Amino acid sequence: MAEPPIYLDHHATTPCDPRVVEAMTPFFTQTFGNPASLTHDYGRRAANALEDARISIARFFRVQPNEFYFTAGATESNNIALNLLVAGDHLITTAMEHKSVLMPARRLQKRGVELTLLSPDGEGFIDPNSLRDALRPNTRLVSIEAANGEIGTIQPIDDFAAICRERGVLFHSDITQAAGKIPINLPALDLASLSAHKIYGPKGIGGLYVRRGVRVEPLILGGGQEKNVRSGTVNVPGAIGLSAALRLRASEMAAEAERLTALRNELWDRITAELAGTSVNGPRALRLPGNLNVSFDRVEADSLIVAMRRFALSSGSACSSGERGPSPVLTAIGVPEAAALGSIRFGLGKSNIPEQVDMLVDDLKRAVTKLREISAA
Ligand code: PMP
Repeated sequence: MAEPPIYLDHHATTPCDPRVVEAMTPFFTQTFGNPASLTHDYGRRAANALEDARISIARFFRVQPNEFYFTAGATESNNIALNLLVAGDHLITTAMEHKSVLMPARRLQKRGVELTLLSPDGEGFIDPNSLRDALRPNTRLVSIEAANGEIGTIQPIDDFAAICRERGVLFHSDITQAAGKIPINLPALDLASLSAHKIYGPKGIGGLYVRRGVRVEPLILGGGQEKNVRSGTVNVPGAIGLSAALRLRASEMAAEAERLTALRNELWDRITAELAGTSVNGPRALRLPGNLNVSFDRVEADSLIVAMRRFALSSGSACSSGERGPSPVLTAIGVPEAAALGSIRFGLGKSNIPEQVDMLVDDLKRAVTKLREISAA
């Protein structure tokens, strides 16, 4: 049987760590109670485990347990966060946010919310001064991601949060690509969204941090779980999985970030030195450790991905793959359309080792040369 391809798409998702699966397993079969069923031991044990998970997650982020709500993931958390806006409010976000921020922002705009999209510079950074200039008397919420999943840019969210706090404006950050990978100062923020599956946890579970005193408007109404922020029976195994994944990150994050940064820089240097007509999108410093995004001149990313059979690659956000056209993130940082259509996102993670970088560079050289020959013919 052919070897499975080497996984290089860790921004789209990550495999569940077996230690996380092990922590979750009893909550499917033994401690399976509904955490709202407090009339019997099954429910009470599930409720206790859920609260222990919340405490452990809160400790990781240095916030209070009652400031953290379980959701089905970052998409839901982002939607809940933005849902606090009403007609007449002003929302500031950026042109390079994930769709789970941009789509609700556009819908709110149709419903009478004023919307400003800040533009990043050529490396994807949002200038804190541009945020300061965009604030209006009716600005209610600013939402800027902590790190970008396509080009890895790490934003100065502490600066944004300080500007907002000074002006009495709420600051939300989509920390999905950053949480558990780089340090995040959650207590400085008012709201934050994350998903477990980006950090070797399960899919379909995430969280919303809501600083004490901040009121959100639920999207889903029902049994009032999660203090009415998100009705619906809580995914207990998932919550245990998120907590286990973060516990592992607490001890492994720093060393892993260093290792992945070195591996990524090696890949960066080798691709740009050994392949003509390549350029890296995004910054060198203040970049997510495992992220690299490269434009290959005179090559279509789709063709290159197909030619690179030994690797699982993508050209950008999984949520946008399948769509035609250049990546909105690359367009926002000024990458010309042809270069954007020839760009690959490499997402390195725990399983990747230096020998795979050698294989990757070899295969890229072969595939890019061949594709350029075909396109020149
Ligand atoms: N925000 C960012 C920055 C993301 O990368 C993703 C996942 N691609 C999401 C939000 C949505 O996460 P989920 O699909 O788990 O809801």
